[in-house]
Amino acid sequence: MRNLTGKGVYGGVAVGRAVFFRRQAVCAQKKTVADPEGEVARFWEAKRIAKKELDRLYTDALRDIGEGGASIFEIHGMMLEDEDYTQSIENTIRMESANAEYAVMLAADHFAAVFSGMNDPYMSARAADVRDISGRICRILSGKEQENAISESDVILCADDLAPSETMQLDRTRIAAFVTAEGSVNSHTAILARTMGIPAIVGVGRELLALEDGTLLGVDSFEGRVYISPDEEKQRELRQKKEENARAKALLEAYRGLDNVTLDGHRIDVFANVQSIVEVGAARWNDAGGIGLFRSEFLYLDRNDFPTEEEQFSAYRTVLQSMGDKKVVIRTLDIGADKQAGYFGLEKEENPALGLRAIRICLSRPEIFRIQLRALLRASLFGRLAIMFPMITSVAEVSEILTLYERTKKGLCEEGVAVSDRVEVGIMIETPAAALISDRLAPLVDFFSIGTNDLTQYTLAMDRQNRNLHRFFDEHHEAVIRLIEMAVTNAHHHGKWVGICGELGADRALTERFLRMGVDELSVSPSYILSLREHIRKLDLRKTEPSARDGGGEYHE
Ligand code: PEP
Ligand code: MG
Repeated sequence: MRNLTGKGVYGGVAVGRAVFFRRQAVCAQKKTVADPEGEVARFWEAKRIAKKELDRLYTDALRDIGEGGASIFEIHGMMLEDEDYTQSIENTIRMESANAEYAVMLAADHFAAVFSGMNDPYMSARAADVRDISGRICRILSGKEQENAISESDVILCADDLAPSETMQLDRTRIAAFVTAEGSVNSHTAILARTMGIPAIVGVGRELLALEDGTLLGVDSFEGRVYISPDEEKQRELRQKKEENARAKALLEAYRGLDNVTLDGHRIDVFANVQSIVEVGAARWNDAGGIGLFRSEFLYLDRNDFPTEEEQFSAYRTVLQSMGDKKVVIRTLDIGADKQAGYFGLEKEENPALGLRAIRICLSRPEIFRIQLRALLRASLFGRLAIMFPMITSVAEVSEILTLYERTKKGLCEEGVAVSDRVEVGIMIETPAAALISDRLAPLVDFFSIGTNDLTQYTLAMDRQNRNLHRFFDEHHEAVIRLIEMAVTNAHHHGKWVGICGELGADRALTERFLRMGVDELSVSPSYILSLREHIRKLDLRKTEPSARDGGGEYHE
């Protein structure tokens, strides 16, 4: 039994027959036309029809999967109106006396190449979108109807790649999973697969395309694996995994749209931790109350140079717009330690976890920090932004950060750039030092977010990455819990809100304690939101308080 591997973009399991997506060939051969102006008019008429189709798709998607998924068609509508795009098509028709189909596909190639060449993964994924809208116009120009590719149920839809609108036009009730030879996790199609909750694997390679329609496939997108003609035993195993997954999910569906409130009326916000724009879709789909931690360093990783102010602005704006009026906490750059980017030119360190990382880099290299702050402040007009700073240890650091922040804001105002006046500014409490002086830090900021991953490693003096420390690493150690409690008390004493964004936020064994402390927000991986909500809604704080542990000497054997 052979298998192919790719990237799972939405976790799930399926067994079914392969159906290859047949794209209608678009005739974009160059022809000379006698009446270029007539051809321009033909292009505009096709564009008008394309816009109408997109408006209808938008309305349908809005009804079926909500604004997050529907917004793709709005973006396509906007791309259709883009002046550079339409101008380039008109120019080709007029200057080369070319047919409209050819001019449209030439523009598609050109703009797709421009997008693909961009360093920003979000922008490069837009290459598929420009091809998609161009393909739509060409189909209309050629007078063809759209084809419905699928007539059976429970199929594994296979394709070289799928454009977002192709994905949306498929009958989702018949598709058990998507598998594509190409494709990136940042593509809108991947976002849609997540939003629609269809297991999907992208980038399994061209070998997929050599398979025949009707081949039995097993898809496990948790593992990113496609099994070709799986034997009986594998099929049984996959079906069992699928059932388990479905049972767990079905139970949680009931919690969508409900409040995070205990039986005795204590409520808490449950937000999402995300590391990329793509995951914002998952946060929305899982009904996050907001984004509690956007790890902005992902914008700096896997590339050869610093992201520009424009690139960052566009990424932050997208996140804020996607979340509407929900709060989005963006953490400034937390590079260093386990997250290294060579182009920063940082010296090799003996103890990188205790070295030049996060805010220490920003304060040592203010030119890098300033660009990020400018991008964030410019984006602030597009939603409800909160900015937070990682790895804080002292009052002096916070004062220095706030001075730089105010100076950057002033600079933008002097340039006439508008900035929202409701941006919240907070800090992460993830060092014992910050927790211990949280009474002095609280008056300086609007909120605290407790990073229990680092707080635990620094409190216990145990590397969070070292697997050999497992038996000593007590994530419920009372020392950590006391530091959390101290930070919560001090924040509240000064009228500030406080959240937990480390992994402990999703630890059900501690939810009740956090609620009793009065923690205002828990920020967790999107996939944990509904199960955490389920847990919170079953708690009753009127019942006896659980006894505190001493935290000493309890090993994990
Ligand atoms: C933390 O330290 O708990 C945290 C949320 O930050 P990161 O895991 O990104 O270090
Ligand atoms: Mg941290």
